Amino acid sequence: MSTTYDVIVVGSGPAGACAAWRLAQAGVAVAVIEKAALPRYKTCGGGLVGRAMQALPLDVRHVTEQECHTAQLNLLPAGLSFTTHRSAPIISMTMRDQFDYALLSAAQTAGAVVHQQCAVEKASFDGDVVTLTTNRGSMKGTFIIAADGALSTVARTMGMADGRVLIPALEYEVTVPPDQSDRFQNTARFDFDLLPHGYAWAFPKRQHLSIGVLSMAQRGSDLKSSMARYLDLLGCGSVTQIERHGFVIPVRPRRGPFVDKRILLVGDAAGFADPVTGEGISFAIQSGLIAAQSLIDGRFEEASVRSEYTRSLAERILPELRAGRWLARLLYDFPRIRSWAFSRQGQRLCEAVTDVMSGKRTYRDLVFTPRALLKHLTPHCFKRSGYRPARPRDGQA
Ligand SMILES: Cc1cc2nc3c(=O)[nH]c(=O)nc-3n(C[C@H](O)[C@H](O)[C@H](O)COP(=O)(O)OP(=O)(O)OC[C@H]3O[C@@H](n4cnc5c(N)ncnc54)[C@H](O)[C@@H]3O)c2cc1C
Repeated sequence: MSTTYDVIVVGSGPAGACAAWRLAQAGVAVAVIEKAALPRYKTCGGGLVGRAMQALPLDVRHVTEQECHTAQLNLLPAGLSFTTHRSAPIISMTMRDQFDYALLSAAQTAGAVVHQQCAVEKASFDGDVVTLTTNRGSMKGTFIIAADGALSTVARTMGMADGRVLIPALEYEVTVPPDQSDRFQNTARFDFDLLPHGYAWAFPKRQHLSIGVLSMAQRGSDLKSSMARYLDLLGCGSVTQIERHGFVIPVRPRRGPFVDKRILLVGDAAGFADPVTGEGISFAIQSGLIAAQSLIDGRFEEASVRSEYTRSLAERILPELRAGRWLARLLYDFPRIRSWAFSRQGQRLCEAVTDVMSGKRTYRDLVFTPRALLKHLTPHCFKRSGYRPARPRDGQA
């Protein structure tokens, strides 16, 4: 096995696979190191929002299990329910083993080398290269893209500054008889107020339902009880099979920097999941592609690559995450204001967030455009929180 590459990508999720695909396309000697045997299950709803589909450089319709043109949001105690429709799918449902493997296979076809069942244990600088110690020996790369997810071993062993907020989430893969699952077809369902500071979802797949719950509070949430209540609420009484999974989602980015000499952090390793929804695939894809392009445009010179990547993140990802965090505070930290706002402008709010998920608008539009979403919320929330929003400057997270 060859052990020296221009670039080694650690992790074969959407961030790593997209980065490797772009580099291989450009003729760069790139390897992907993945600790799991592929294709591997990933704890995830597998929902690809329109924004993720737009960011994708590849066609993945062959791994789409259902296209949901309808989304439904319920605020349970208030008895409010809103439905949005779009001609393009709002969420395309996949299983992550198939989706991630499709992306990785495209990278492989373009020339990337894949080492699976190879776990990175440590990264260290070694002159002008980075050495990765793995369970199958050491490997060297001129640059490393750390796409190794929320628990990034690369970032941890390099001592890179963190500051992310990791929230807990459960995903159950639930099989129910067809007469019970039919009513979920082609609709992505979201339910608020089942638990404080969080929400639950039911995503229809080809043969089963992916049902999940997350809490924006880092601790103190009994997600298992919330999930049990949710399964009852959905009327999934006669479950024929259930697989239970749990993991974390980083809903606040690292303090930065996102580059340390020759190591670039992308996706969950950088903390780029959407702070409002926990959706992480869009910015995983985008950051993976941006990291690869920064290496190419920076001609593999350390200082140029660092400034390219830092500038691109500051322009294209960080301001959006910052605006999203502000909106997330309003939604999750002020439940009474949320109920009040939804009782008056619920349909409009749902349409606006659907537009963001569809890639037609941004959180920045919503938060900083006077006629948009927050027009109806701001006086109350500012008063209670003491918060005064300022337009983000480039580079501010
Ligand atoms: C319950 C739950 C539901 C979610 N639902 C959705 C959803 O419906 N839609 C959405 O957009 N997002 C969702 N997310 C978020 C989404 O899963 C992540 O944001 C996304 O997977 C991040 O992609 P990534 O490529 O950065 O990392 P990952 O997809 O986590 O990939 C990291 C890869 O690195 C590998 N790896 C880790 N450590 C090592 C190591 N030491 N050596 C080698 N390889 C290693 C892992 O095996 C993995 O394959 C959900 C998350 C959770 C927890």
